[in-house]
Formats: sequence, structure tokens, C-alpha cells
Amino acid sequence: MSERTQSGRPKVRLHVDGPLAAGQAVGLDHERAHYLRHVMRLERGDSIAVFNGRDGEWSAVIDGFGKGWCSLAVAERLRPQERGADLWLLFAPLKRGRIDTVAEKASELGVSRIWPVFTRRTDPHRVNMDRLRANAVEAAEQCERLTVPELAEPVPLERALAGWPAERRLFFCAESGAAMPIALAVQAHAGNPAAFLVGPEGGFDTQELDAIRNLPFVVPVGLGPRILRADTAAFAALACWQSLVGDWAAGGADGRPPFRSPGAPDPSTS
Ligand code: SAM
Repeated sequence: MSERTQSGRPKVRLHVDGPLAAGQAVGLDHERAHYLRHVMRLERGDSIAVFNGRDGEWSAVIDGFGKGWCSLAVAERLRPQERGADLWLLFAPLKRGRIDTVAEKASELGVSRIWPVFTRRTDPHRVNMDRLRANAVEAAEQCERLTVPELAEPVPLERALAGWPAERRLFFCAESGAAMPIALAVQAHAGNPAAFLVGPEGGFDTQELDAIRNLPFVVPVGLGPRILRADTAAFAALACWQSLVGDWAAGGADGRPPFRSPGAPDPSTS
């Protein structure tokens, strides 16, 4: 018997690529089949939840396991699709382990685009995008979001800034020079799509700091009186934005995930 949450929904939740609709067959690869069968100990007839970032969340019944595969039959829709926050994170790649955590936490914190950018003092010169993507997807599955963040190809920071969409504010986490406290800055630009830029462990160099802060879409922000490590700075900035103008502030379900508040209506039936 598959494990279910208190609300009776399947506990195991997977992101899939293909379309989702009642009666649709979904095939899973070796890794996922192994996870369901040998890690979660599920069997034929058990239910899991699936989402693809386009068609909402669905229950799906395991209708077969084979050597290195699993097939599912999509059953009923549990939640309609939501767009999620429009929030980008640009960050200078960090060493392995810490960069994995950035992908995981950015996904949990509702980031829609994760974008590694190379600054002058960035130490790692390559990024393992497959690993970053796997961390972001796994976090999306675990945290019950309905989308997975887009992983943008790593580029030099100047290139990312050269093609910047004018209406999107880039909150530049600036460890020195003039800046607004983050809370004031995000509230002053609440209506605009947003992005955060966090520098490398070695910080931005002076020329970079000056060049970035003079761009018209850039809003330099301060994160308080202590120097934070780059990953801490990213998580703190994202949490501030979400709580002041993002989906933590948007009400609904007591600021908790759907189905978690006592007596919360089931969105699939409303
Ligand atoms: N090595 C730099 C120094 O000593 O000045 C510090 C760099 S810090 C470890 C890495 C990044 O986190 C910075 O480039 C900045 O984007 C962000 N950051 C850290 N603390 C910050 C603060 N108090 N305000 C704004 N940004 C901060």
C-alpha cells in the first residue's frame, strides 16, 4: 500500500517530462524505476503524484515494473497548474557541495530561473549543469512546487547584463558602496519582475562594482551589517523577497503549502 499524506494524497512525488492527462501512460527510466521499487518499496497498483510544470499535479498508478523501467497510468488531477513566482537568481559559481546547495535551496525558495554567471573573481570555471539540474528537480519534487526552475546556460556576467530585459529589476547584493536596505528596495519595486545577483566568495572587484551599479535596471541592496557567505547571501535575499512581495506574502492557505492548513479546501475540487 503506497504511503499517503494526512490529506490522503500520495507521498511520493516525481517530476516527469511528458504530457499529463487522465488515462495518459508515462514511462520512467531506470533510475526512477529503481527509486520507486527498491527505495520507496512501491508495488504495482500503488499511487504516486506526478507533475511536469505545465499540466498541474496528478495522481498516477504504477501499472508495471520491468528490468530498468516502470510505467504509470495517470489517474486524476490533484492540483491545477500555477505559474509560480517570476524570480531569477544570478550567482557566481561556488565549489561543489555549496553550488549543489544553491540549486536545491533556490528551487525550494521558488526561483524560476537559476543562472550561473562568471565574474572576475569566480573561482570554479566550469559548472556541472546536469548535477545542478538534478538538485533543482529533486528539491522541486520534495517541496511540492508545481514547476521546476529553468537552468540557464552559464555565461560571463557582462553577457547576461548586455541582453537584460529593461523592466526586470536586478537587485545587486553589493557588499560595499551605496545600497538600499533590501527590505526597502524590494518593496519600492514590488510591481516589477525581479532578479538577484550575488557575487563570488572573493567579492566583486571595484571596477565590476562600479559598472554594475550604474546600469539603469540595477538596484544595489545591502543584506545587513555582516559579510555573508555567497550562498547565505542568496538564500537570505530570496527569503526577504518572498516574505515581503512574493508568494509568502500572497496569503492563501495561511502562508503554507496547499492541503496543509487545517480545513484547507482541496484546490482540485474548487
Ligand atoms: N570577500 C568579500 C569581502 O570581504 O568584501 C565578500 C564577498 S561575500 C563572501 C560574497 C557575496 O555575497 C558578495 O559579493 C555579495 O554579493 C554578497 N554579500 C555578502 N554579504 C553581503 C552584505 N552584507 N550585503 C550585501 N551583499 C552581501
